[in-house]
Amino acid sequence: MSQPVLSLWINGKAQASTGSRTAEIFNPATGRAIRRTSLANKRDVDLAVAAASAAFPGWRDTTPLRRARILARFRELMEAHSGELIHLTSEEHGKTHSDAAGSLQRGIEVIEFACGVPHLLKGEKAEDVGRGVDCHSLLQPLGVCAGVTPFNFPVMVPLWMFPVAIACGNTFVLKPSEKVPSASLRMAELFRAAGLPDGVFNVVPGDKEAVDGLLTHPDVRAVSFVGSTPVAKYIYETAARHGKRVQALGGAKNHAVVMPDADLDFTADALIGAAYGSAGERCMAISAVVAVGAAGDPLVEKLRDRVDRIKVGPGEQKDTDMGPLITAPHRERVQKLIDSGVSEGAKLVRDGRGLKIPGNESGFYLGPSLFDKVSTTMEIYKEEIFGPVLIVLRANNIDEAIRIINKNPYGNGTAIFTRSGAHARRFEHDIEVGMVGINVPIPVPMAFFSFGGWKASLFGDLHVHGMEGVYFYTRSKVVTSRWPAVEEESSTSLSMPTLG
Ligand code: NAD
Repeated sequence: MSQPVLSLWINGKAQASTGSRTAEIFNPATGRAIRRTSLANKRDVDLAVAAASAAFPGWRDTTPLRRARILARFRELMEAHSGELIHLTSEEHGKTHSDAAGSLQRGIEVIEFACGVPHLLKGEKAEDVGRGVDCHSLLQPLGVCAGVTPFNFPVMVPLWMFPVAIACGNTFVLKPSEKVPSASLRMAELFRAAGLPDGVFNVVPGDKEAVDGLLTHPDVRAVSFVGSTPVAKYIYETAARHGKRVQALGGAKNHAVVMPDADLDFTADALIGAAYGSAGERCMAISAVVAVGAAGDPLVEKLRDRVDRIKVGPGEQKDTDMGPLITAPHRERVQKLIDSGVSEGAKLVRDGRGLKIPGNESGFYLGPSLFDKVSTTMEIYKEEIFGPVLIVLRANNIDEAIRIINKNPYGNGTAIFTRSGAHARRFEHDIEVGMVGINVPIPVPMAFFSFGGWKASLFGDLHVHGMEGVYFYTRSKVVTSRWPAVEEESSTSLSMPTLG
């Protein structure tokens, strides 16, 4: 039986691609292809951008208050259809239901933030910057904005982008990951049902061809990207060369420092969730632990015992702690990295290779793996593994731990576990990472703060959502005004005007 093919979403309706390229979408839990997605071509992208361009003048002139009301209705519909969105996330990505529900909630919080847009867009005003002269600033939308998103958060990462962009008065073209496009298409239908005018939000599932169409399109003003570092760098350079504003969030290697004074049971519980949740396929996953001094041996024991209790299985099954990886080739890559850790001399404390789940033997499962005695020259340290593999390095003191982290090319998230305020404060001050947790393993900022890493984890200047998101999707304009009385005296001057 031939599989159903997902359409594109252009100008408020499902539309078939003008081309014929498609790709299979898998359910990673069973290993079986469940449907196909169209892969948008350049002509499809042109149609989506044309629809977004045509919708822009009307949407820009819709008052922020009216835009916020549509967003509030969208938020209600997202909640009402949460079961369906959680199912689509779990089905195409493999996440457990509770993890998919958590990431949906974090995405909905961005919509809630964007509902405050009438307040967020307020500018500044100063009276009498010169005699009889006033000055005020405005934040105005850019036009058509584009988003390109990764497979690992089918709902949350798109929601980091389009609610804020659209609330600010822009129109949007989203290119979701071709591995998990269904949730984005469903969100487009819900947004329309909430009253969003046609053309304001468009979805073009596809691959590099669609992305390149957006990066080079003269009518796209800004590009938001989340994905791996090599692609982030390419997006940043290509879009900037074509005159666009860009924020490109890349990969990560997130370290947790564990001090000898930490509560090791609390720490081990926190690290297990942060390392193996979503099978390690999170940009904020803790993938490296730096155990300081005497913390090392007891911590590794506690981690090992907890790894043994992780139940791996289909994400949609109630008692599952950890689901499969996204594809068979990705599992192959992670297994090869585990092989390399063994051959380079790290101690493999728990080995997740070769796991089979009865009844789902073809699913893309890999059990949780734990390495100890890892050094910074090993491949398992240098690579972003993006799988259920936690590595432990040892350090003699906090200085050495901070040095290790600051030398790493990535700088997305990090955490310290300690009972010492002095250690925590020192860490917070000296660490070269964008998002820091103190006894918090996954320090993902709430929607009303901004999310973004440093170094190879983000190319661009502004982070996503929060006020930085509002600044990314708007241009500021400063107006200086004077209303001279008809009879007021004036004279000509060719000097640089000064006020005061
Ligand atoms: P990816 O870079 O392979 O793909 C991301 C997006 O880019 C997809 O939409 C894909 O279709 C597109 N793409 C892929 N190759 C391309 C190319 N050559 N040219 C143009 N477009 C291309 O990433 P992924 O595998 O989907 O997601 C996992 C990665 O995303 C990990 O590295 C993870 O750390 C990262 N990530 C980062 C964050 C963050 O906030 N920094 C958040 C989530 C995921």
